[in-house]
Amino acid sequence: MDISVVVPLFNEVESLPELTSWIDRVMEANRFSYEIILIDDGSTDGSWELIEQLCLQNTCIKGIKFRRNYGKSAGLYCGFEQAEGHVVITMDADLQDSPEEIPELYRMITEEKYDMVSGWKKKRYDPIFSKNLPSKFYNWTARRMTGIKLHDFNCGLKAYRKQVVKSIEVYGDMHRYIPVLAKWAGFKRIGEKVVQHQERKFGVTKFGMERFIRGPLDLLSVIFISKFSKRPMHFFGVFGTLMFILGLAAAIWEGSQKIILTLHNQRAPRITESPYFYLALTAMIIGTQLFLAGFLAELNVRNSTDRNSYLIDKRTNV
Ligand code: UDP
Ligand code: MG
Repeated sequence: MDISVVVPLFNEVESLPELTSWIDRVMEANRFSYEIILIDDGSTDGSWELIEQLCLQNTCIKGIKFRRNYGKSAGLYCGFEQAEGHVVITMDADLQDSPEEIPELYRMITEEKYDMVSGWKKKRYDPIFSKNLPSKFYNWTARRMTGIKLHDFNCGLKAYRKQVVKSIEVYGDMHRYIPVLAKWAGFKRIGEKVVQHQERKFGVTKFGMERFIRGPLDLLSVIFISKFSKRPMHFFGVFGTLMFILGLAAAIWEGSQKIILTLHNQRAPRITESPYFYLALTAMIIGTQLFLAGFLAELNVRNSTDRNSYLIDKRTNV
């Protein structure tokens, strides 16, 4: 099979007929063998009943229904698990992404040998203040922090070599950072393609203000996990030691002042009168805490079942 199109959806009943027939048209025109995997993320608007009907009309369409709403990442995860196509394409169900992009994305993966190609909604048809501007800032931060030169990390329209989706595990709200997960799994050829974007025709956006809190926090997690998840002590240990040394130095300074003054028979002020004393105390406590956190995290890593799971690219004679 050439292409699996993975579509996570939540209450998108109005868009589905047009979406599936449009994808089908593009696939037929280009003679691709394909499947469309629709993952109903706990819809309550009759999306699933419609999917069952669509599946009867077209056997290339497959449906999975969650019992409740788990989020877009969960949908993608199950779609990736199911996908059999040589190239896997993800797109949103709301018709904001155009199926016309599929042939070119497919070509970039198969001929230009990209591991993954991410869409870039260069001209974007979403509300300026609630979506476009925050998204620009967020993408800039993500670029700086991950070193991946993409303009639109969270674009729903993306294409992957099959091996990529089988090697990464999307969970929580991590659909925003799939390029980071891919890079971290050792897939370095990550490309970008400017894609057409439309205004939402039916329904409403499923991501409200909570994404302003979750997005940045998840970015921090992704970066921390990718750098330190197998060696947490290198993070906590460094900061813990620095803090402790700072505290100790301040304490020694304070103590020696007092001793020197006493040796010269002068009345030394109480040690609790100095701000350095409190700084020293706090720094040493925080330093110890960080160190302990490091040890606990190391223990966790030691006991985790995937402490020795590596993605093997090739083997010979084994
Ligand atoms: N979606 C989903 N589960 C959710 C929220 C969203 O499967 O809990 C799907 C949604 O139906 C759509 C895609 O994820 O197909 C992108 O959502 P949306 O268009 O609302 O996001 P926006 O384009 O506004 O960022
Ligand atoms: Mg949308």
